[in-house]
Amino acid sequence: MSTQPDEFALIAELFAPLAASYPGALGLTDDAALLEVPDGQQLVVTVDAMVAGVHFLPDDPPDLVARKLIRVNLSDLAAKGAVPFAVLLAASFPTDVSMAWLTTFAAGLKQDVESYAIALIGGDTVSTPGPLTLSLTAFGRVEAGRALLRRHAQVGDRLWVSGTIGDGALGLLAAQGGLLDLSAEHRDALADRYRLPRPRSLLGPRLVGVARAAMDVSDGLVQDLGHLCRASGVGAVVEADKVPLSAAARAVVAADQSRLATVLTGGDDYELLFTAPREGTDLLLTLARETDTSLTEIGCITAGTGVTVLDRDGQAVLLPRQGWRHFRGEPA
Ligand SMILES: [Mg+2]
Repeated sequence: MSTQPDEFALIAELFAPLAASYPGALGLTDDAALLEVPDGQQLVVTVDAMVAGVHFLPDDPPDLVARKLIRVNLSDLAAKGAVPFAVLLAASFPTDVSMAWLTTFAAGLKQDVESYAIALIGGDTVSTPGPLTLSLTAFGRVEAGRALLRRHAQVGDRLWVSGTIGDGALGLLAAQGGLLDLSAEHRDALADRYRLPRPRSLLGPRLVGVARAAMDVSDGLVQDLGHLCRASGVGAVVEADKVPLSAAARAVVAADQSRLATVLTGGDDYELLFTAPREGTDLLLTLARETDTSLTEIGCITAGTGVTVLDRDGQAVLLPRQGWRHFRGEPA
């Protein structure tokens, strides 16, 4: 049993060590942090909140919750081509949170603060009668004027994604006890992808000057691509057959074709979606090797508006905004 931990003891014991590598954090002993932005660079800032029961499962391991919180934000910085260096944490812990939960949560923060070479430079912790609610603000740097944006896609650009698509959404189903016809190995692999995203922090900065438009895939490939198209005033065609799937996702779709809609529209992938002129292809394949990241061309940018997904016969795949209703004429 535990009493509500004292905020100042929490900060000193659990969080201050995560600030040690950044002098401007002032050891978390002051009201604010001081950020350095070298000449010729821009600060890139993003914030993402996660609520228990909405963005993660209430009984997910606390260290993985902490790491996912960091990683979803680093994914947004990677999409801008930025190198991350600092984060701010605002945490509303339920009144009955235990010291053991907090200690494991802080251990998860520490692990990723170290592995991504960033620092926790400040934040706030409060107590709430509601669900655990976490908000993290992440700071990165990019050469001034060179950040990757959604709005720069051009007609004729090739469309690329990193890694594999659909594992996050299928992983949520697996983590909730679904997909029971799948092997335990595949279910575990998918659930792991849901709980612990792999932001493309090495690849993103390397895409500066190579990619034209970019974003991360967090709300589903088709929907996110739609955002990129709107921002750029273009349309896009995706060839469903070319969308890269993990072995586990391939097994899911092979057993149930309707799951392809989950793959194409589900969230939580945290891969990079970007466009590049055709002549950038060789350079991209070199970057893929150098960053040990698979990159796959899945379609192209077109004149007009909206996202069209084609099957292998060149027929349009109809995808509802949420879930699926019709796929190749099959009823819901
Ligand atoms: Mg994003």
